[in-house]
Amino acid sequence: MNVLIAGANGKIGRRLISHLAADNIHVTAMVRDAAQAQSLKELGAADVVVADLEGDCSEALKGQNTVIFTAGSGPHTGPDKTVDVDQNGAISLVDQAKAQGTDRFIMVSSMRADDPSSGPDKMRHYFEAKGNADKHLRDSGLGYVIVRPGRLTEEPPLGKIKLAEKMDDFGEISREDVANVLAEVARMEIRNREFDLITGDTPIRDALQRL
Ligand code: NAP
Repeated sequence: MNVLIAGANGKIGRRLISHLAADNIHVTAMVRDAAQAQSLKELGAADVVVADLEGDCSEALKGQNTVIFTAGSGPHTGPDKTVDVDQNGAISLVDQAKAQGTDRFIMVSSMRADDPSSGPDKMRHYFEAKGNADKHLRDSGLGYVIVRPGRLTEEPPLGKIKLAEKMDDFGEISREDVANVLAEVARMEIRNREFDLITGDTPIRDALQRL
């Protein structure tokens, strides 16, 4: 399996490289800055490509079976960048992946992206951007998995999660556990599923098998 990670230098992305590489999956890390290449290769990335989600990513997508999108404009930029990266960048990557013959696209979205008005007003633009990208992916014809984690933490991994197509209570989960879930989703060849995700009591593989 050839996997392209968009957002590979991010906090989830860096952890995900190690998990996939440990399974001998060929990982291509997509980054904006070539200076990040060495450290990502040390984590296990087989290739590093420089591309910006706001531009042409077609070279990075050549030969990839699976794309994992875990990029984001982050909390320190304004709503404009959220739309540029989390929404339009994701939508553009879906379209380019389809054009390049990619088989499956795994999206790191967010809880509440499927119901932006359920969250705080100051976060509405973020949930809407994520939700618009998710809808585009769902309708794209690509095999898709949409993972909607709750608030991300830097806590150590528990290896146990709660997931559901729709969860009423907001919760949190460590980035390490999200990276583990993404790696398992890739390995298990899951497709055409979407779920909210927080810390819970069920081992990751068991929870995914019940999807
Ligand atoms: P992160 O550490 O901020 O990583 C985001 C990555 O996206 C960075 O490596 C960044 O590149 C990259 N990026 C930003 N703009 C880009 C562009 N135009 N082209 C290419 N790459 C670009 O994020 P994280 O903590 O790992 O979170 C990953 C995902 O979880 C995001 O999609 C986020 O929306 C989602 N999420 C977050 C929360 C939360 O509580 N924070 C909750 C649910 C879901 P640089 O390294 O060059 O800056």
